[in-house]
Amino acid sequence: MSHMKVCVRFRPLSSRERRDYGDSVCVQCVDSETFNLKDEKDEIFTFSFDKVFYENSEQASVFEFLALPIVRDAVNGINGTIITYGQTGAGKTYSMEGPGILECDELKKGLLPRVVDGIFECIKSSEEATKYSVKLSMVEIYMERVRDLFDLTKDNIQIKENKAHGIILHGVTDISIADPAEALRSLASGIANRVVGETRMVLSSSCCVKLLDRFYWATETLDRAKTGKLLLVDLAGSEKAEKTGAEGSVLEQAKTINKSLSALGNVINALTCGSLGKSKHIPYRDSKVTRILQDALGGKSQIALLCCCSSSPSNASETLSTLRASHVKVSM
Ligand code: ADP
Ligand code: MG
Repeated sequence: MSHMKVCVRFRPLSSRERRDYGDSVCVQCVDSETFNLKDEKDEIFTFSFDKVFYENSEQASVFEFLALPIVRDAVNGINGTIITYGQTGAGKTYSMEGPGILECDELKKGLLPRVVDGIFECIKSSEEATKYSVKLSMVEIYMERVRDLFDLTKDNIQIKENKAHGIILHGVTDISIADPAEALRSLASGIANRVVGETRMVLSSSCCVKLLDRFYWATETLDRAKTGKLLLVDLAGSEKAEKTGAEGSVLEQAKTINKSLSALGNVINALTCGSLGKSKHIPYRDSKVTRILQDALGGKSQIALLCCCSSSPSNASETLSTLRASHVKVSM
């Protein structure tokens, strides 16, 4: 059974929010796991999560709580997934990448570069008998097609399932990585290949780090390989398609994204709430993103969900729906 951690992060108010609403916020801290949220009608809702990162939280604390245990497990062959969720502008990409991948203040480095550093550190301190090979792939789901961000000619990668490796992206470019600097250069090239302009239309941009522990001296059997797959997923903005002001085919695509995000929500609910009852059906096939995440979400794996939110009163209703979608415990 997979283990899931759900955390919330409030980003600092933007200058526009400050200009329009001053310093007022709709969130009141209770403690590091619980807060109150006031909606537009002044109704108060109390939420508890595994951890709440308030406005002045540091990138390093988010990494240590949310990602470091997953990195350690991945090095030991346990799959892990880190997902950022929330409305556009709520801080998903900032949390995942920081303000930039290559040139970035140490303090502001996001999860992705920290995960890369963490992997190589864990490998360095692991038993000498274990040799690792680290591979990196990067895709995005755009218009329900999976595009390879390391090779744009592969713009419709098929998702397949195979007994030995679980879910695989058929023919995806897997780059072998020798050190963190090399990983970051590859990540930066992948990021540069992302669809720009209509970023809202990208369902998810994900990065997969595969750790192949292929050489286990101690056991004398070279084929006793353990593979840890670590997926980092930056999801599309969760706001309602109609609210984006989009029209025509763009609106249709935005609706597809909303459907995919709810498909992901349904899968996560089914897995974590045990609400399945008699039917053990988990609706992985309802969207590309749930299909890609199938073996990361089911089975023995670690999942961390970071719900990114704005604490500005102007975003109270979107924040409320982000929090409800990631539910956990809601009391009144
Ligand atoms: P999203 O990916 O959810 O659409 P972004 O990560 O792009 O949102 O964040 C929107 C803006 O807010 C960016 O300018 C980003 O730099 C800023 N921002 C987000 N989170 C933080 C944070 N924790 N600290 C400082 N600035 C942040
Ligand atoms: Mg983003």
